[in-house]
Amino acid sequence: MPKTYIALDLETTGLEPGRDAIIEIGAVRFHVDGSVERFQTFVNPGRPIPPFITKLTGICDADVAGAPSPRQAAEQVAQFVKRDPVVGHNVGFDLAFLRRQRVLRANPGIDTFELAGILVPHASRYSLANLVEELGLDLPEQTHRALDDAELTRELFLALLGRAMQLPLDTLQELVRQGRRVSWGATYFFEDALHERRREGFQGAIGAQLAARRGDDAAGPLFVRESPPEPLQGRREPRPVDIEALTALLAPDGPIAEATPAYEYRSQQVEMMQAVAEAFNEGRHLLVEAGTGTGKSLAYLLPAIEWAVQNGQRVVISTNTINLQEQLAGKDIPQLMEALYPFRWQVMKGRGHYLCRRQFEAFRRRGPRSVEEARMLAKILIWLPNTLDGDGDELFLPTSEERQMWHDLSAGSEACEPERCRYFYEGTCFFYRARALAEAAHLLIVNHALLMADAVTQNRVLPNYELLIV
Ligand code: SF4
Repeated sequence: MPKTYIALDLETTGLEPGRDAIIEIGAVRFHVDGSVERFQTFVNPGRPIPPFITKLTGICDADVAGAPSPRQAAEQVAQFVKRDPVVGHNVGFDLAFLRRQRVLRANPGIDTFELAGILVPHASRYSLANLVEELGLDLPEQTHRALDDAELTRELFLALLGRAMQLPLDTLQELVRQGRRVSWGATYFFEDALHERRREGFQGAIGAQLAARRGDDAAGPLFVRESPPEPLQGRREPRPVDIEALTALLAPDGPIAEATPAYEYRSQQVEMMQAVAEAFNEGRHLLVEAGTGTGKSLAYLLPAIEWAVQNGQRVVISTNTINLQEQLAGKDIPQLMEALYPFRWQVMKGRGHYLCRRQFEAFRRRGPRSVEEARMLAKILIWLPNTLDGDGDELFLPTSEERQMWHDLSAGSEACEPERCRYFYEGTCFFYRARALAEAAHLLIVNHALLMADAVTQNRVLPNYELLIV
């Protein structure tokens, strides 16, 4: 089992290994126990360095004038690296340049970009600098100099190793076993995590991350197996909402102001809220034109919640995009829950957003047939015990291959057969669970695509509804 790694970074004249040339190599030999040895050399590319590269890196023609040629420098770094695994951020880029010089052809590459996509599924960006910041590593800023960036890569690798060590033993064992089938470079990393993990305790870091994203403070396995609440039972004779009471909620010193940081009283918002409430009470359509800054979400959410809770009638809210769905779910609705009273709400997305657990189990049993499949399996395996909704939007799937694989594993694939599925009968199918929760929700948050899909399938996607806000 390799315990020595080489963090490597190159500076080059451009991004194309077949056309551009190396101008600097930095490498750090390290062990997980902390010992470190460094290598750095400028490289003479045999051509002028483009001005934007000099601006980015600070390396100019004079710096590389007396430096070794690409071939000589490649041989030097190969002697330093020996046969050890090479760690890099987008390591394929660095290895492609060096392999053109006929070195490091058999060394396994371990990509911190790939590992971060598995172990840090919600980073806002996956650049080296951003990940270092996101993981709270107290390090100097990225300089775009090879040795400095190799040092950052080493630190990122060790932070990721720490995360991997927090995974359950059986997950790590499976990652190693499945990764070996296709000689996946990351298997070296998971082998070391397994080795270290056997000696240490753990807490679910991914679970904590997902919980933080949702705004709760739970950690560890989060899939709630209890039965969803009973579907809503609407009142025969709906009671009108009290518009005066709703108006008082929006007063400058009212409960919404108290619960909402930086709340601002807006007369247009109150006007819109009253118009929406009247439309509910009178059972008629309403078309509102309201400019940016009106506070539209609150203006329709308040009467919708009040109506749904007091009359047991579901209100469907359809947003233009999934991002807007998530904004309502992540910010506006939790704030209203705090200011008002408990009510039930559910975000519903199309079937293709939910993992099909039956398909995934079949994938696990068959095992990966490629590195891409091993990576996908690792992403889902680590995420699955921690997700509440089984929503693939919680995963980082940057490539079209990964998105296609997700589609094949999702409840949107053709393979769903609920009558033959134990997850359906157990009530643990993510899609059918979301549907059951939607049946019991006062507010159901959907997007226009799903709303249209429901319309063309004669209401087979969403539970029945009579009240709709678009
Ligand atoms: S009910 Fe369908 S979507 Fe759900 S786990 Fe079973 S086969 Fe997959």
